[in-house]
Amino acid sequence: MRRLSSAAAARAAAKISLVALDVDGVLTDGKIIINDDGGEAKNFHVRDGMAIVMALKHGLQIAVISGRRSKVVEHRARELGIRHVYQGAGDKLSVLKRLLAKLKLTPSRAAFMGDDINDLEAMGFAGFSAAPADADSSVLEAAAWVSSFPGGGGAVRELIRLVMTAQGKWPSHDGKAYSDEA
Ligand SMILES: [Mg+2]
Repeated sequence: MRRLSSAAAARAAAKISLVALDVDGVLTDGKIIINDDGGEAKNFHVRDGMAIVMALKHGLQIAVISGRRSKVVEHRARELGIRHVYQGAGDKLSVLKRLLAKLKLTPSRAAFMGDDINDLEAMGFAGFSAAPADADSSVLEAAAWVSSFPGGGGAVRELIRLVMTAQGKWPSHDGKAYSDEA
């Protein structure tokens, strides 16, 4: 897909009501630490979390759609207040379609950020396809918008900031209203 100009990205972002996110490599740096007992640890970025909390406060819908299953994701989603959590999603496109139907939204109202080949279908369906800077090369080619930041390192925050700025919802400075734990 042709990369959007910044003006075109802002126009598309202004329409977004749902920001759907892959987890590994988007909300995290893609690394999974597996302990002896099989428990997992992942690296999330606290500033991505803050942006998600702010987006939810302003009425944006946030979803996480992961191909894997992990308790860590449940904990992080609960902490941030994300209600749309889909794990073990072998077919992310179907999950996204079902969620859009449930929310009564057209695809043009959805952004999807992914980093690997199993995200490509959902990205192609969403009105706004986004990728972190360190996504797989095929995903970088397919994305209409690529963050300057890597997965787990601010890519999600930059996407949400773009959407909220286009909608006049991003605060000019982070004040007390946004001081929740994120
Ligand atoms: Mg991924």
